[in-house]
Amino acid sequence: MTITRQNTLTTFVADVAIGSQHPIVVQSMTNTDTVDAKATALQIVQLARAGSEIVRITVNNADAAKAVTEIKERIADMGYPVPIVGDFHYNGHILLNDFPKAAQALDKYRINPGNVGAGKYHNDNFIKMIDVAKEYDKAIRIGVNWGSLDQQLLTKLMDENAALIEPKSAKSVMYEAMIQSVLLSAELAEDNGLSANKIIVSAKVSNAIDLWAVNRELSKRSNYSLHLGLTEAGMGVKGAVSSAAALSALLAEGIGDTIRVSLTPEPNAAREKEVEIAQEILAALDLRKFNPTVTACPGCGRTTSILFQEMAQDIQSYLKVQMPVWKDKYVGIEELKVAVMGCIVNGPGESKHADIGISLPGNGENPKAPVYQDGQFVKTLEGNNIAAEFNKMIEEYIEARYS
Ligand code: SF4
Repeated sequence: MTITRQNTLTTFVADVAIGSQHPIVVQSMTNTDTVDAKATALQIVQLARAGSEIVRITVNNADAAKAVTEIKERIADMGYPVPIVGDFHYNGHILLNDFPKAAQALDKYRINPGNVGAGKYHNDNFIKMIDVAKEYDKAIRIGVNWGSLDQQLLTKLMDENAALIEPKSAKSVMYEAMIQSVLLSAELAEDNGLSANKIIVSAKVSNAIDLWAVNRELSKRSNYSLHLGLTEAGMGVKGAVSSAAALSALLAEGIGDTIRVSLTPEPNAAREKEVEIAQEILAALDLRKFNPTVTACPGCGRTTSILFQEMAQDIQSYLKVQMPVWKDKYVGIEELKVAVMGCIVNGPGESKHADIGISLPGNGENPKAPVYQDGQFVKTLEGNNIAAEFNKMIEEYIEARYS
C-alpha cells in the first residue's frame, strides 16, 4: 500500500519545496538565545547536519532581529546555508518593519494570528507583516496553536454556539475556532496581495485525538501546504511516542507536507533528537528514507549472549557514522536494508528479506552465522570476529551495488 498525499499547493522556502508534489520536509527549531548569534548558528548547523531541512529561530526583540544577518552569514560560512524561519509573536509587525535586513535575510515568517494584537490592531498588524512578506517575496506560515488561540474569535464562536437550540460541545467550537483562525488569516493575506502559494498553514494542539480532528478538517477545507506538529510533545520516550502516534495517523492519510517534532530535550541533551525522530517517523511510513534500515529481533531465551544486541548496535552506529560520506558517494544508499537476527527461528527468513542479513547462533545451535545477500545464502561466519567481518561484507555489498 502506498500513501496518497492530499493535494496541496507548492510553497518554496528559499529553495526547499513544500507541498504534496514534493517529499515531506523535516524541520526543527533552535532553543538558543537568538541574540547569541554564534551559539544559534552553531545549533542551526548541528540541526542541519542531523537532517533538518529548515530551521526556525525565535525573533522576539530588536537584538534578536539584529542578530539574524550574522546568523545567516555564520551558517553559510560553516557550509550549511539551511533556510531560516523567523518565529514572531506580539511584535512581528514592528520588528519586520524596523529591521529590514532581518526581514530580507529570513526565508519565511511564522505568524501566530492569536498573538498579533487585539481589536482593530489585529488585522492592521497582520497586514503589516503580509506587506513585508510581499516586499521581500517571502513565504509565511500561519501557525495557530491552541495555547494562544485568538480569544476574540473563540468568544464569538462560543457565543454563537450558546445561542443554538442544540449547542455543540465546547471542544468542537474550539476546533472550529482554530480552523477559522487559520483560514480567515489566510484569506486576509490573500486579499492583501499575498499569493496562496506563499502561505503554509498549521494548527497545533498537544494531544493526538485533537490534532487529528483539527487537521483532518483543515486539510478538507483548504489546499495550502500544511505544516504538521504535535505541540509541547514532552520529553524523552513520551515525547517521541506521542509525536509518532499523533503524526503517523495523519501522515498515513496523506495529510502533512512538512513536520516538526516538538521534543523537550533532557538537560544538556542534543537538540538534534527531534530531527532524528521526525526522520524515523517518515521512514517508518515509507514516506522517505534517510538512512539504511537495520532490522534486528528483540532477542529472547534462545539467544546465548548479548552478542547479537552488540552487533545490531555496532552495525547501526557504523552505518550512521559512514552515512555523511556514503550519501555523496553512493546513490540510493538510504534504501539499504540490513538484518541482524538472534537465532534460526526468524533469522534466515528475515535475513532473506533484507539486502544483506546475518542470522546469529542461538542457544544450542552450531556457533555459526549464515549471511544472506539479496535473498541468497552467501557465506557462514564464525569465530570471534563476526561483527568486523560482517561490516566488511556490508561495505563490499554497498560498493558493488551503489557505486
Ligand atoms: S529470531 Fe530467535 S532470538 Fe530473535 S526473538 Fe525470534 S526466536 Fe528469539
